Amino acid sequence: ARRNVLITGCSSGIGLALAVKMAKDEQKRFKVYATMRNLSKKEPLEEAAGHRLGKTLEIKQLDVCDEQSIKACVNSIPDRRIDVLVSNAGMGLIGPIECQTIDEMKTVMDTNFFGLVRLLKEILPDMKRRKSGHIVIISSVMGIQGILFNDVYAASKFAVEGFCESLAIQALKFKLQLSLIEPGPVVTEFERKVFEDGMKMDLSAADAETAEMFTNIYLKNYKQIFQSLGQSAEDVAEHTVKIILSENPPFRHQTNTLYTPMTTLKYADPNGDLPIDIFYKMVFQHDKIFSASLNFIKLLRWRSRKSFDLGKPSQ
Ligand code: NAD
Repeated sequence: ARRNVLITGCSSGIGLALAVKMAKDEQKRFKVYATMRNLSKKEPLEEAAGHRLGKTLEIKQLDVCDEQSIKACVNSIPDRRIDVLVSNAGMGLIGPIECQTIDEMKTVMDTNFFGLVRLLKEILPDMKRRKSGHIVIISSVMGIQGILFNDVYAASKFAVEGFCESLAIQALKFKLQLSLIEPGPVVTEFERKVFEDGMKMDLSAADAETAEMFTNIYLKNYKQIFQSLGQSAEDVAEHTVKIILSENPPFRHQTNTLYTPMTTLKYADPNGDLPIDIFYKMVFQHDKIFSASLNFIKLLRWRSRKSFDLGKPSQ
């Protein structure tokens, strides 16, 4: 049977690419409800969807910060049946916290975290009743590992991950599937908006050293990081479709193998110092990164030897 898929934030980036990819599925396995906050931005999606529009893809209004708009959208879907929910809408925020207002920070939490909560409050009860459904969340590697000057954004994605880890246990009882997609940098509007906001930021509330760090280290390397490590939205969409189609979808899926070593650091050291130390050296002491990596490898060796000593097979 054809699966109904609701995706949020489809006016650009990953949401748009995913909606189009699923609508173009040759086997026509999906009916896509591609939603966006502002329908006046629907043209690029309409164009990319082409003749699938009105057939395997419908565009609907949905603002993840507005409960009424979520309810109206879900009510407009036949039998309110959503087999796959892709929570994708999100926003970024960079810079020193001294230069951000609490309201700006709240907007990020409200979109990235409470946006997901609102969707699930409306959609989860139906899925539980039917004992079927797949909840797919576009999280981030920053849902596992914090990164300099992304404090509030990382917090919002950590919130998402903690929420999902807790919910996954209940979901299992109702035979529901829950998957977190964790991209590294992706070249989308997101990256452009975040960079432009960073460039415009009023840094007068920060001390000179912090302002200099943000401008001359963070912003200076920002574009280069996206250029060298960044994936395309289509790439992330392809990963996401694979997870949606897999029989046993994993709870976590990282889309960028270049990032896996960074997040592995987190699990390698229970004290939590290792990733912080490595990131510090990466940012402030480029020359020390090699010795830091070496220590990391030594630690991994030591850990596997230790678990071997305890009679457990080394991983
Ligand atoms: P994007 O800016 O192109 O897409 C985000 C979409 O969310 C936009 O269409 C925007 O209009 C929409 N949106 C924002 N607030 C909304 C609201 N209240 N209601 C409905 N829609 C809303 O950027 P993207 O990179 O495609 O981002 C998609 C997701 O991927 C986000 O959750 C983001 O955190 C995550 N992500 C992005 C990157 C990256 O580097 N671009 C990396 C990891 C994770």
